[in-house]
Amino acid sequence: MAKKENQSAKELKEKLFMQKKNAYLRMSDAEIKKMDKFCEDYKHFLDAAKTEREATAFIKQAAKEHGFAPFDKDKTYKAGDKVYLVNREKSVILAIVGKEPIEKGVNLVAAHIDSPRLDMKQNPLYEKDEVGYFKTHYYGGIKKYQWPTVPLSLHGVIVKTDGSKITVNIGEDEGDPVFCVSDLLPHLATTQMKRPSTELVKGEELNIIVGSRPFKDDEASEAVKLNLLMILNEKYGITEADFLSAELEAVPAFKARDIGFDRSLVGGYGQDDRVCAYTELMAVLNAKSVRKTAIAILTDKEETGSDGNTGLRSAYLKYFIADLAATFGVKGREVLSNSKCLSADVNAAYDPTFPDVFEKNNASVLNGGVCVTKYTGSRGKSGTSDASAEFVGEIRALLDKKGVIWQTGELGKVDIGGGGTVAAYIANLNVDTIDIGVPVMSMHAPFEITAKTDVYAAFKAFEAFINS
Ligand code: MN
Ligand code: MN
Repeated sequence: MAKKENQSAKELKEKLFMQKKNAYLRMSDAEIKKMDKFCEDYKHFLDAAKTEREATAFIKQAAKEHGFAPFDKDKTYKAGDKVYLVNREKSVILAIVGKEPIEKGVNLVAAHIDSPRLDMKQNPLYEKDEVGYFKTHYYGGIKKYQWPTVPLSLHGVIVKTDGSKITVNIGEDEGDPVFCVSDLLPHLATTQMKRPSTELVKGEELNIIVGSRPFKDDEASEAVKLNLLMILNEKYGITEADFLSAELEAVPAFKARDIGFDRSLVGGYGQDDRVCAYTELMAVLNAKSVRKTAIAILTDKEETGSDGNTGLRSAYLKYFIADLAATFGVKGREVLSNSKCLSADVNAAYDPTFPDVFEKNNASVLNGGVCVTKYTGSRGKSGTSDASAEFVGEIRALLDKKGVIWQTGELGKVDIGGGGTVAAYIANLNVDTIDIGVPVMSMHAPFEITAKTDVYAAFKAFEAFINS
């Protein structure tokens, strides 16, 4: 083809090619400074909210401090009113009433606050060969071999038959003990190392060491277990049977940290998906007055498929919207049918050490900005909601207009794997929905990696959407 008059290849390329530039090369020094400050607070959130219950408590407290009040379906609301609804201490909805009539639709942003971890079984405590253990059942998709020899903290609740509830949080404070799953020394691991890596450490080998000191009595059997129960009885007033009505979760005990000489990355547990939860929360808390009613959903159970009454396959979101709509004399389905949603969840960041699983033209990269994903699913897009071209066009225009640094990305090569988010469950309510979130390296590992620029870009994207 002939060269266009007066235009060099360089000029034409700039005009016609998609621009892919590292976020640092597109941000001003002032913006980078703001980003660094934002990520300091983000790391504190990661440390303070390691489970869905802790995240719920954190979000509820922050919402209250920003003028949100418990939602009351018998009240009447006006533009600017801020409400929240806590669902069983494990998920939260925040809403800011917009100036436009609610039947014109709402702007939803949905992130999840549960992360892969080790749950205690219902009868967890046992002693074997004079070592005390908790039996676990892993939660979410983990590579089991990553969890032994990691210092673990214990979080959750124990509910007694009188209805009283004990909150447990051990292993986070400097002076606290931690817990740990053991692994075999390499010297004796020849046979273990021949196992397929999915069984390198088996589910029933993820046993957490909780003690080793016996109760002082030569006659007693299971003296370590007895001593442990004595300590737990003194501390919490519980007996062994109280574990039956407990939810105890083991998560990495370490704190979120900067990674790299240049401190450009954040390392921490549970960034999938608390990175989107935090950025979404900040966008809603900072919103002044919104045109459309803004609703932030922070949900549980995404990592196990969104089932159950705190996951997004349940009716709790639908009921909330119906109840909120009813305060204006409007039907919930009318609101939903005109609504738009950003399904805020992480995507796989391209990993230069493992390039083979990615198709580079369609993979998100660290420092490429927040990642917009038109569809998820696996194989032939199984389980996807696939946002329409029209809606992608709308979001694209909005992000560009607001100067948000963003990229597109998919979850790995077509035949290799895949995955899903809550997008499909919200889209199933007849809501225009698209996935957007922060690229994560080492996703679902005890220590996940994100880029600060992408975290900040996610905040900017949610802010732009909520205020649109
Ligand atoms: Mn996720
Ligand atoms: Mn996940």
